[in-house]
Amino acid sequence: MLNNTKISFELFPSPLQLQNGKLGSVIDHFNQYEPDFFSVTFGAGGSSSYVSSLELVKHLVEKGIEVTAHITCFHLTKKQIFDRLQQYISLGVNKLVVIRGDQPEGEHTEVSFNYAYQLISYIREISGDYFDITIAAYPEFYPESKAIEEDVLNLKQKIEAGADRAITQYFYNIDAFYYFMDLCQKNDINIPIIPGVMPISNYEKLKKFSKICDADIPQWLDKRLSAYADDPVSYREFCTDVVSKLCEDLIAQGVPGIHFYILNQTTSASAVLDNLRLNQTNNTQQAKV
Ligand code: FAD
Repeated sequence: MLNNTKISFELFPSPLQLQNGKLGSVIDHFNQYEPDFFSVTFGAGGSSSYVSSLELVKHLVEKGIEVTAHITCFHLTKKQIFDRLQQYISLGVNKLVVIRGDQPEGEHTEVSFNYAYQLISYIREISGDYFDITIAAYPEFYPESKAIEEDVLNLKQKIEAGADRAITQYFYNIDAFYYFMDLCQKNDINIPIIPGVMPISNYEKLKKFSKICDADIPQWLDKRLSAYADDPVSYREFCTDVVSKLCEDLIAQGVPGIHFYILNQTTSASAVLDNLRLNQTNNTQQAKV
């Protein structure tokens, strides 16, 4: 928790990292920040992902940690979805991130539903209000959308199907989020929208990943990050500063929470969180003087 703003962390289910204890240490490390929940992604890895996501969810449940499990429709048959929901119910997991998923290139998997809203309807049909459902939202707009109206309509149909809240794709331009929230308000989209924040560590990897999901890296940020190639200390300080400032601005806008895409790494997200806590303590002390 950062003052009154809830925080959450997203993990991906790496069987190796779970087996060798790395994921356990990452979870213990971030649990000290008293998150609202950890979420567990569902990858495009077919059956191996089906097994490993459940293993990680179980691991968190056994530790007594609040968990939100992602579930997709592009990678699962209807029977697999049904079985997985029953498994979550048996484990006492009642929070889901429901997304469509991306079709793995060249892989022909059976598609149960074509869109997230259809999966949400199915979940509501078979389990009523048991699950709290989070959906994906895109302040810089969904890459394949032909028009802004399409994104608004899609958000609305996901809410009508039964979504309770949304987590956004990450962004570094806060205006994108601000105007997206404004658009939602004008279109009577009133569910809580939690911004997703990606701390910066390996810039080359971030660039590659951002290309895939079409997340914008502003030119000024690209140039500054590239300029620190031979100065890792200044690079880390700058990354921490940029992401801390983004979080501070979001908190000032009154967001209900911040969801950190931690990529199973501790360093960059902790640097941001420690920096935010330090700034908050300093501000409180200054206010008292
Ligand atoms: P949808 O909401 O279904 O939308 C996809 C597209 O279909 C949109 O363009 C929409 O406008 C269009 N559409 C919707 N309905 C119709 C219709 N009736 N006719 C025509 N077009 C329509 N991916 C994973 O594989 N695993 C994860 O765990 C995962 N977690 C994520 C978590 C978050 C917070 C976010 C932001 C993304 C996540 N993703 C994950 C990525 C996500 O799966 C992809 O972005 C995917 O391409 C879209 O998913 P969606 O749920 O937003 O799709």
